[in-house]
Amino acid sequence: METISYEVIRSGRGTVCIQILPPGRVVVRCPKGLSQARIQALVEEKTPWIQAHLARLAAQPDLPPFTREELADMTAQAKALLPALVERWAAAAGVDYGRITIRRQRGRWGSCSASGNLSFNCLLCRVPRETAEYVVVHELCHRLFLDHSPAFWARVEALMPDYRVHRQWLKDRGSALIRRMPR
Ligand SMILES: [Zn+2]
Repeated sequence: METISYEVIRSGRGTVCIQILPPGRVVVRCPKGLSQARIQALVEEKTPWIQAHLARLAAQPDLPPFTREELADMTAQAKALLPALVERWAAAAGVDYGRITIRRQRGRWGSCSASGNLSFNCLLCRVPRETAEYVVVHELCHRLFLDHSPAFWARVEALMPDYRVHRQWLKDRGSALIRRMPR
């Protein structure tokens, strides 16, 4: 069975609900006290239903390009989200970094310069949280290895054992988001 990448939003609500949001974000909304094991079991139980919805979304024609307002909004959200993720994962990876820049671009999800400046695509605020974290981990691992050598991937995997799920998400569903970036 395919592993599903999802994000969890805990709140004061009393019930669990699973939402599928374009372009393929799976969000589990649940009560504060629900254990991760229980959430995982629910997601596994609902996997056929989730996959049917994801397939339906994937079959939809492309949505129109993002508007100027949407882009400004996404950039603001990405600026609010990414520095905290970078700080946390840089500590876990034991690396330092320079400036963080949020870019509106079609080509890539993130980059890391030789001097440690990081740039991230504003679209990362529209992908599952753990997938955005994978991009952060990936770029921070370039502080240790500038290439995509086996040693680089081993370091990524050590920090994030399920990174392949997120890399695959970007390939399968991220492209629909990229296509909505204005040229
Ligand atoms: Zn890379």
